[in-house]
Amino acid sequence: MTTITKEIKSDRKKVPVKGMMDNVLEQFNSAANHIDLHPNIRKILNITNNEIIVNFPVKMDNGEVKIFTGYRVQHNNALGPYKGGLRYHPTVDIDAARALAMWMTWKTSLAGLPYGGGKGGIQLDPSKYSQGELERITRRFTFALADNIGPEHDIPAPDVNTNSQTMAWIADTYMSTRPPAERTANQHVVTGKPTGSGGLEGRDRATGYGVFLNIKFWAEKNNESLEGKRFIVQGFGNVGYWASYFMEMEGARLVAVQDAFGSIRNPNGINVEDLFNYSILNNGSISGFPEAFELDNEKFYSTECDICIPAALGNQITKENASSIKAKLIAEGANGPTNVEGEKILLEKGVMIIPDILCNSGGVVGSYFEWLQNRNGELWQLDEVMQKLDKKMRESFIKVFDYSEKEGLDLRTAAYCLAIKRIEKAYIQRGIFP
Ligand code: NAD
Repeated sequence: MTTITKEIKSDRKKVPVKGMMDNVLEQFNSAANHIDLHPNIRKILNITNNEIIVNFPVKMDNGEVKIFTGYRVQHNNALGPYKGGLRYHPTVDIDAARALAMWMTWKTSLAGLPYGGGKGGIQLDPSKYSQGELERITRRFTFALADNIGPEHDIPAPDVNTNSQTMAWIADTYMSTRPPAERTANQHVVTGKPTGSGGLEGRDRATGYGVFLNIKFWAEKNNESLEGKRFIVQGFGNVGYWASYFMEMEGARLVAVQDAFGSIRNPNGINVEDLFNYSILNNGSISGFPEAFELDNEKFYSTECDICIPAALGNQITKENASSIKAKLIAEGANGPTNVEGEKILLEKGVMIIPDILCNSGGVVGSYFEWLQNRNGELWQLDEVMQKLDKKMRESFIKVFDYSEKEGLDLRTAAYCLAIKRIEKAYIQRGIFP
C-alpha cells in the first residue's frame, strides 16, 4: 500500500464483518461435503489452532497513554508456518481475524505453498494517529506478540491500512529483541518489507497483478480480449490500484471506483495514474476527482460494466445488491467480499466469480518469494519475480478451472476442494499426535 499521509475522515460505512465467519465456514463445509472430507479432519479445520489477544499501552504525542487491542489468529499450520496479513481497521476483532485466518489456510494450500494460515491486526482507525504514534503502536504490538510470530512459525504481511513501512517497523522491532547473533537471520519474520530492507521487487504489485492475471486467464478461456472491457473497482488502495493499472495497460476501461469516502463514475474511462496521483498521493480519497462524476454509493455495484473487482473489505456483495450487478465476471481482490447469499444470486444469474483464495493469491505468492529470497540470502530482479508469479498464478487458475469443469462445480467450491484435499493428505500421512 502507498502511505496516505493526509488527515482523512473516518470510514463512511458500517461493514457487517461479523458474518464473515459464517461465510467461511459455510464455504468450507460445502466443499468438505463434496469431497467427503474425513470427519476428524473436518473437526480440526473447523476451528482455529491459536488465538492471541494482546492489550498494550502506547504513549500518544500529547503524553496520554492509550490502550490498544491487537489480534493474531493462527488457524492451521499442517502445511507450514502460519502466514497472513495484519490489518489496522475499526472492524478488526476476533471474529474477523478468525475468518481471515481460515481464508489464508485455504489460499496458501491452493497455491501449493509450504504455509498455513493466520491473520490479525489492531482495532483502530489509522487516520486518527500521527506517523510517530503508528510507529509506536506497531512496535509495541510486535513486542506484545513476542514469540507468537517468527520466520519459521508465523509470518505477517501487509493488509488493509498497513504497508511496507509497517512491515519494516515490525521486522526491526522483532530483530532488535532477538539475541545479537540471531538478529539479521530473522529478517523474514514479515514479508512485504521495503525493497531496501529485504523486501521483494514487485511485492507491492503482486496482489493486483495476480487479480489482473486471473481476469486475463478467464478472458483467454472465453476467447475474449480485455481491450475495451469496462471494469469497476471497489477500494483504490494497494490491490485496487495495481489491478486497475494492469487492466488499463491491457486496454480495459475503468468506469467507476468506490473507496471508504465516496464513489465516482465516468463511462468514458477514468485514467488510473491520474486517479492515483489525486487520491493516494494527494487527497487520501478518490472523492472530488475532477475527471469523473460523483456517484451515489448505493449505485456503485449496479454500474454498467463487464468486470467487477471488489478490492476493499468483506461482505460487500450481498443479497441486497447482488441482483443489480451488471458485470458478468467478479474478480475478488478483497478477502470475503461476496457473502454466501450474494454468491447464490450471482451464480443463478450466470455471473462467474473468481474466488478470493485464487484471485488475490498473488500477494501471498509474492510473499513466499520474498521469504525464500531472505532465507537464501538472494536478491531477485523484478522481471524474474513477475515471470515466476505469472507461472504460479497460471498453474493455480488452470488447476481450479479444470477441476470445476470436471466436477461441475462453481470456481469457489472447486478451489476449496483442492485446497482442503492437500491439507487432508498431510493429516492422513502424519496422523494425529500422540
Ligand atoms: P488498502 O488499505 O491499501 O486499501 C483499501 C481500500 O479500500 C482503500 O481505498 C479504502 O478507502 C477502501 N475501503 C475501505 N473501507 C471501504 C468501504 N467500507 N467501502 C469501500 N471502500 C473501502 O488495502 P489493500 O491491501 O488494498 O487490501 C484490500 C483488500 O485486499 C482486503 O480485503 C485485503 O484483505 C485484500 N488483500 C490484500 C492483499 C495485499 O497484498 N495487500 C493480499 C490479498 C488480499
